[in-house]
Amino acid sequence: MHETLASIYNYLQTHGATLVAISKTKPPEEILKVYDQGQRIFGENKVQELTDKYVELPKDIQWHLVGHLQSNKVKYITPFVSLIHSVDSFKLLEEINRQSAKINRVIDVLLQIYIAKEETKFGLSFDEARELLREPKVNSLHHICIRGMMGMSTFTDDQIQIRNEFRSLKSFFDEVQPLRLASFQPDILSMGMSGDYKIAVEEGSNMVRIGSAIFGERK
Ligand SMILES: *Cc1c(COP(=O)(O)O)cnc(C)c1O
Repeated sequence: MHETLASIYNYLQTHGATLVAISKTKPPEEILKVYDQGQRIFGENKVQELTDKYVELPKDIQWHLVGHLQSNKVKYITPFVSLIHSVDSFKLLEEINRQSAKINRVIDVLLQIYIAKEETKFGLSFDEARELLREPKVNSLHHICIRGMMGMSTFTDDQIQIRNEFRSLKSFFDEVQPLRLASFQPDILSMGMSGDYKIAVEEGSNMVRIGSAIFGERK
């Protein structure tokens, strides 16, 4: 499946969702082709690849990290990252806060929530996320802002299962709205990839992460 960027934009614009073009494994020249069509938000899943591409590519790109982040690598991305989709512990949140305080930034993050019925995906359960959000210390993290949640559905052809997983995350997103704090301003729901972004948007996603449908299959 390879869609034109215009047709993806057209769909997302009608539904009020933002596109993060997932450029992992793709070389700078291919990213520039998409950039030249107007796309400015790109996402990567590895810290090293993200920092290399940040250095090499135009500085008006907003870079998102969508993959697992280890605490010891946070410092490499805090100077420039615009959204981290994959926060899965309070410890990681504290480290992002510590590193962004050093450079006087406030970094936007999402909590990655585990919604799939698979063993391999990272993320917090709904209960763990509730616990994290009720942690009194969250309010003392002045250099991060939790802007919402990210979730990935199970890799399956069962569209009903995918829809139910997205629906469960939207309902969690709605549930925690009243917990709002200076450091918790949930307005982003990052759900949907190449194969399931329309289902995700129908279920309330306002940010989709699309790689292969734009760039073609990865090797
Ligand atoms: C690779 C990746 C995507 C994009 O996947 P496609 O199926 O190529 O659209 C989205 N989100 C995350 C977290 C990814 O790692």
